[in-house]
Amino acid sequence: MENFDVIVVGGGPAGLSAAISAAKAGMKTVVIERGDYPGTKNVMGGVLYTQATAEVVPEFWKEAPLERPVIEQRYGLLSGDEIITAAYRDPAWSQEPYNAHTVLRVKFDGWLAKQAENAGVMIIPETVVEDLLYKGDLVVGVRTGRAEGDLGAKVVILAEGANNFVARKAGLASELQSDKVAVAVKEIIALPQEKIEDRFCLEPGQGATIELFGDSTDGMLGTAFIYTNQDSLSIGVGVILNQLIEKKWTPNDLLENLKSKPYIKRLLQGGETKEYLAHLLPEGGYKAMPKLYRQGVLVTGDTAMLVNGIHREGSNLAMTSGRIAGKVAAEAIKSGDISAQGLSIYDKRLRDTFVVKDLHTYRNLTGFMESNPHLLQVYPEIAANAMHRFFTASDTPKGEGFKNIAKMAFEKHSKGAIFKDIFRAWRALK
Ligand SMILES: Cc1cc2nc3c(=O)[nH]c(=O)nc-3n(C[C@H](O)[C@H](O)[C@H](O)COP(=O)(O)OP(=O)(O)OC[C@H]3O[C@@H](n4cnc5c(N)ncnc54)[C@H](O)[C@@H]3O)c2cc1C
Repeated sequence: MENFDVIVVGGGPAGLSAAISAAKAGMKTVVIERGDYPGTKNVMGGVLYTQATAEVVPEFWKEAPLERPVIEQRYGLLSGDEIITAAYRDPAWSQEPYNAHTVLRVKFDGWLAKQAENAGVMIIPETVVEDLLYKGDLVVGVRTGRAEGDLGAKVVILAEGANNFVARKAGLASELQSDKVAVAVKEIIALPQEKIEDRFCLEPGQGATIELFGDSTDGMLGTAFIYTNQDSLSIGVGVILNQLIEKKWTPNDLLENLKSKPYIKRLLQGGETKEYLAHLLPEGGYKAMPKLYRQGVLVTGDTAMLVNGIHREGSNLAMTSGRIAGKVAAEAIKSGDISAQGLSIYDKRLRDTFVVKDLHTYRNLTGFMESNPHLLQVYPEIAANAMHRFFTASDTPKGEGFKNIAKMAFEKHSKGAIFKDIFRAWRALK
């Protein structure tokens, strides 16, 4: 049996970041990835955040296969065929220090894996880790699906994404609950560069993102998105699994509903679908985070439920947790203490970062949204109706128009109910 200091299960952003930081600290490190190569099994809307990535590979933007720097972030609230949008644009984001870039994971993860190899990491693709190996109670390595595929390690870092089979077997995660996981579907639609730049009002090379709420998910708890790549658009939509089941929709129904909206149709017009992808996205947040360590094991990224759906952040939480896990593993191995106590510093360090602090801030929000499904149904309709009246020129005096808007809103949702929603939302964020 070949022995390593650190074995990383999964070659996504969490696993590769963990491997890079462990290898840079002098550890003999291997990443085991079930896909043909890192990136081939991975799905993401596509926004990669600069700060977290640069902490793993400084100045990565000089070499990494990135699509476009994001200079505009737009939000859209859909109600039927109507849409209300709000956008923030900062052209300075097209230069260093960038805020974020769009990426295609198959290219980016492949590149990140090369950086790991350059740092001395061995990557074993096309191999599934089936379980941890134990000597008594002690974790001493992993069992893979290959013949004679046992590998020894002092520390195993679990970065297997949302499908947390190994973590579950190790008692470090529980089965995914249908109210704590979203199903997301995505298409990559080829479109010439100039068309993308015209449609999104961008200078050559610049990028934009749109997040869509309300009827983009037909009122289900979730969001949709459109991101600009160099010569394609990434369009996708994700909703909480139990709501999709209740509605008896397939993931494809979600995408077709989104693509049928006039605003979206126009953005996609003439495009050709190149890829269709689907994936799970952990949405349990802070309250669903599993125990992050035990003797010889650390849990990172999506496996640890580290996704901030409100801000569409996951890759940065994955990379930050992976980077810290790799460093903690190396320190623990060097100090000769890989006990649960020795590795508990990982939990403490992660809690001191934005990763856990942000999840803690939103700890009540998903539950609040889920127990109030009307929020994504009633309010988009009220808002669209109000905007329609506000922007329609008529012979109704403006003062009377405002009163009519208030009357319409309170007819659709009583004054008391609106105040109750505001109070509950405030309490959920407190
Ligand atoms: C549709 C969608 C849109 C998203 N959009 C964004 C976005 O725009 N920005 C953002 O920051 N985040 C986004 N996210 C979230 C982001 O993709 C994840 O948070 C991030 O990829 C988590 O990284 P990870 O390394 O933990 O897991 P993953 O990227 O899922 O990597 C896990 C890896 O482990 C491998 N693996 C699993 N089990 C085993 C095993 N037993 N043995 C060997 N290998 C195994 C898998 O093949 C995979 O390569 C999005 C997610 C989805 C689904």
